[in-house]
Amino acid sequence: MDLHTPHPYWLLKNGLLCEYPALRNTLKVDYLVMGGGITGALTAWYLAQAGIQVAVVDRRHIGMGSTCASTALLQYEIDVPMHQLAKSVGEKDAARSYHLCIHAIDKLELICKKMPLPAGFERKPSVYYASRKADLVGLDQEYAIRKKHGIRVERWDKSDMISAFPAFKAPGALYSPHDGAQVDAYALTHALLQDALKHGAQVFDKTEIVDIRHEKTQVVLHTQHGQSIRAKQLVIAGGYESQEYLTQKVTRLHSTYALVSEPFDGAEIWYRDALIWETARPYLYLRTTPDRRVLVGGRDEPFFSPGKRDRLLAKKTQLLAQDFNKRFPTLAPLLVDFNWAGTFAETADGLPYIGTVRERPRTFFALGFGGNGILFSQIAGEIIRDAAMGKKNPDARIFSFARAKIV
Ligand SMILES: Cc1cc2nc3c(=O)[nH]c(=O)nc-3n(C[C@H](O)[C@H](O)[C@H](O)COP(=O)(O)OP(=O)(O)OC[C@H]3O[C@@H](n4cnc5c(N)ncnc54)[C@H](O)[C@@H]3O)c2cc1C
Repeated sequence: MDLHTPHPYWLLKNGLLCEYPALRNTLKVDYLVMGGGITGALTAWYLAQAGIQVAVVDRRHIGMGSTCASTALLQYEIDVPMHQLAKSVGEKDAARSYHLCIHAIDKLELICKKMPLPAGFERKPSVYYASRKADLVGLDQEYAIRKKHGIRVERWDKSDMISAFPAFKAPGALYSPHDGAQVDAYALTHALLQDALKHGAQVFDKTEIVDIRHEKTQVVLHTQHGQSIRAKQLVIAGGYESQEYLTQKVTRLHSTYALVSEPFDGAEIWYRDALIWETARPYLYLRTTPDRRVLVGGRDEPFFSPGKRDRLLAKKTQLLAQDFNKRFPTLAPLLVDFNWAGTFAETADGLPYIGTVRERPRTFFALGFGGNGILFSQIAGEIIRDAAMGKKNPDARIFSFARAKIV
């Protein structure tokens, strides 16, 4: 699958951060993680930390799937607002999912502090603004349910918005001063795998799994060059390409667009350099980068067709720049330095799928779909580590395939 245009910003900025060999021999391992993106890296890191024997394989270079295209906002706010999520999964699980995302940000912060390479982690506040007056009803419902469940959020009215973001013309917003962050997902993936290597993990890229057989006591896999891998357990962390290993269709693929500007002067580009997004769907979102650039993303299209997706890139870049100029006239015109398009997957309820399916014994899926993919990857890493250690994780149920809805 063609996951993105060739030059996402993080790939250009970081280049080949670390190199890994292709698998050249047969391999026997307790846990095999198929996929070396942020999900596979976090899972392998947690397993290696727990002293479990683990190997990672990826058909591409490490991190060059969706991870290098990620705009990497870390928001506890799931794409589906809590008051709506409560309708599909129940209020208790909706609130717990939001809290798990808050914990996931905290845990990623601690992990990033321990990493052997910098991963661009920065704490940021988050602003979720009402795109239209009509969205205020939903915004108030969202504020009420988040407050009820102890989330640290403020309800901003029109005048609060004007004093922070004068040109937005937004009638209100939810402001989360503490629970947001941003990261460089590609750098973090390499950092995690470098650290996992120190704890005994093995990492192979340019190694494609072309056949998987599930036996009673092991999973036997074959690579494109005919090597066999025997694993007691398999973790499928194949990102948006994982659907082919499932009989049930659980994801919908979209196309999405992002740009990064030339650097700005000054310490702060806008109000506290907050993460910004909105109630409209598809939503526009903005963040800054540690090298003082502006990142603008959105203008999604509801199709998966890499050719059609990429032909729209120039037009979408222009539209995203206009979106920015309208909201930040004092910073306009935005000078675009880099742009890219990517494929993006979402689930019917906005939650990821993490767990097992009957037709694939000895196999765990770690599928962090949606706008919070990275936080879901962090949650998956812990659930899989707990399962490997025979520890019951009470939250695993929330993300299991038992709730699967055909999309
Ligand atoms: C433009 C864009 C913006 C995004 N913005 C955000 C954001 O702001 N915040 C956020 O949290 N998330 C965001 N996401 C989502 C997030 O980036 C993804 O959830 C995350 O990168 C997925 O990581 P992954 O490791 O699961 O998948 P990937 O990074 O795609 O890794 C999966 C790997 O599996 C490998 N693989 C697949 N099949 C095989 C096989 N048969 N054999 C060997 N290897 C295989 C692939 O080569 C790939 O490298 C965004 C995504 C995009 C595209």
